[in-house]
Amino acid sequence: MLGAMKPPYDPASHIRTIYLDEECQDSALAQAICARANVPVKILPAGARPQRGASPSPHGLSKGKHNLVLCTNRGSFFKPCPATKEYRCCDYQVLNIGMGCPMDCVYCILQAYLNNDWMSFFVNTDDLLQELDLAFLRTNQFWRIGTGEFTDSLAIDNLTGLSPILVNYMRDKSHGILELKTKSANIQNLLDLDHNGKTMVSWSLNATTIMAKEEIRTASLSQRLSAAKICTGKGYKLGFHFDPIIYHKGWKEGYKETIKTLFTTVPAEKISWISLGALRFLPALKPFALTRFPSSTFFHEEFIIGLDNKYRYFRSLRVEMYSYILGLLRQHAAEHTCLYFCMESDEIWQECGFAPGESSKLPDNLDLAFQRTPN
Ligand code: SF4
Repeated sequence: MLGAMKPPYDPASHIRTIYLDEECQDSALAQAICARANVPVKILPAGARPQRGASPSPHGLSKGKHNLVLCTNRGSFFKPCPATKEYRCCDYQVLNIGMGCPMDCVYCILQAYLNNDWMSFFVNTDDLLQELDLAFLRTNQFWRIGTGEFTDSLAIDNLTGLSPILVNYMRDKSHGILELKTKSANIQNLLDLDHNGKTMVSWSLNATTIMAKEEIRTASLSQRLSAAKICTGKGYKLGFHFDPIIYHKGWKEGYKETIKTLFTTVPAEKISWISLGALRFLPALKPFALTRFPSSTFFHEEFIIGLDNKYRYFRSLRVEMYSYILGLLRQHAAEHTCLYFCMESDEIWQECGFAPGESSKLPDNLDLAFQRTPN
């Protein structure tokens, strides 16, 4: 049962300054964002970025969450997910809408990738849609497309108004769906859209102690699940991602409680997929994260370097955590819901009870799961 709930924190309210690249000054979208934000707007010379500190620094990362740069993406928007060939991947396609996020997860891999004193959002959405048009013309492959690779899909959607543009675009696409993945409860823009079942909304979930301590400025479990429930009422299908699963004192009770709350709040038949991924991180992340969050202890566990050069828990611990959480999910999940691992080896799949060869069918199983989920 969800108790009395505080209104969710608005991650966009963390933004204190907008920097507008002068070449975007005439963009209607940029102007609308500036008007909605109600914070000072500074104009940057074309291609310039806010002045940064002398060197990349943990302090700069925290400061950067107050600064949003509105600019043009001159590179490509659309590409396959940068999975590694050593682990089983799901053939995901990534739509790059901007970089960085005002929420602040201790484990966020972006701290190691994007060490900027600012976040960015690309306002040339016409170019984005044009690129998608060309990509759809080139193939009949069924695409699962996500915008949450370098940012959170919905954290500042109330500011950018991007989700209506994308949802409307996807509405009549016969061989693709859009997954909006978030840790916010920022769903207002989705509620009145005619999405035609081509967009799903997903939430990352964790044990509540992890969500409260290690996922700063995110929505609470009850706020995320309430938002998910509202989305089902509007015909959206759902996904959930237990990622990263973090070993901590009381982890079994923590994940059990979250799973119980999930299935007592949200109708199981509306869930297309649930992924599991244990904590993994580039070695470069640890010094940044520990400087910024010295009271976080989970980086002090024992790890091995995986085939993708990221730290991971020992295999025995991963299998123990996966088996336990999968067991709970299997008790509640609908038959059509695809349960899967993100970036794990075929051996781990089998050790956790999947039939031999099941992992290789993952892309097809996800497509099928989505088709079988009722609107
Ligand atoms: S919500 Fe996602 S993008 Fe934002 S800080 Fe957390 S992990 Fe990073």
